[in-house]
Amino acid sequence: MKNLFYPDDYKPHFYDYDAAYLTSRGIRYLSCDIDNTLVTYDDPEPTDAVLSWLETLGKAGITVAFLSNNDSARVERFNAALGYYAEADAHKPLPGAVKRFLVSVGKISDRRQCAHLGDQVFTDVLTARIAGVTPLLVPPIKDKLTLFFRIKRAMEKPIVARYAKKYGKQF
Ligand SMILES: [Mg+2]
Repeated sequence: MKNLFYPDDYKPHFYDYDAAYLTSRGIRYLSCDIDNTLVTYDDPEPTDAVLSWLETLGKAGITVAFLSNNDSARVERFNAALGYYAEADAHKPLPGAVKRFLVSVGKISDRRQCAHLGDQVFTDVLTARIAGVTPLLVPPIKDKLTLFFRIKRAMEKPIVARYAKKYGKQF
């Protein structure tokens, strides 16, 4: 069994997971975290970089969803012009939101056709692992410097260190 906290891949930016990359891995369904994965907490709407990335994924036949633990006001505004499948208060790392997204797109023969992209080990990577889909990780665009987030990042450190020791590279 794969480590619950290790991503299958780690890239510097969301747009590094481009259509060619996703297609080459057989990924047709991509659920995305929003905050610090696609935009900062201060961006209420998708940036041009996000929109052009989404457009290229759409053209490649990849279905995207937004699964966020943030509230519905945030998610609805972010998704307003796109109208993708989206869940606020998604309760990641519980796998329910990922599973409901997969149900929404119909019968999927192989969970490996689906990936979840996010910036947090204990929410995004874990939710992907529990749901049986491919975890793709990015570093947070800009961390909120709250005590809660500092504690979460500190807890991720030993996992990152073990991963680096095992695979000889950082994530
Ligand atoms: Mg996030």
